[in-house]
Amino acid sequence: MMLPLPTTIRAALDAERDRGRQAVAALDRRLGGQHTPRRPQWDCDTCEQAWPCDPARVRLAEAYGRDRIGLAMYCGALYPVANAELSGSTAGELWERFVGWTR
Ligand SMILES: [Zn+2]
Repeated sequence: MMLPLPTTIRAALDAERDRGRQAVAALDRRLGGQHTPRRPQWDCDTCEQAWPCDPARVRLAEAYGRDRIGLAMYCGALYPVANAELSGSTAGELWERFVGWTR
């Protein structure tokens, strides 16, 4: 499905927020209801580690299989949500935590 390209910064931010909302809504299904993040602190509800914990990374990677780009795009959609909710980490640190591991 082709989405219309946003033509303003506001439209781009709205689109980013929608992608983030959809990515968060899909977390339970993607992870099978375990190792999901507690928000807004983004720690794991199962093992208490900073999310995505290792089991969550394994499950997400398995869900996407060879589609590493899809995995990176999905985690990239979660990133702005986490960045808006988490304080105490730099944007670069959060990018590594949420997206960098998918490489
Ligand atoms: Zn966990």
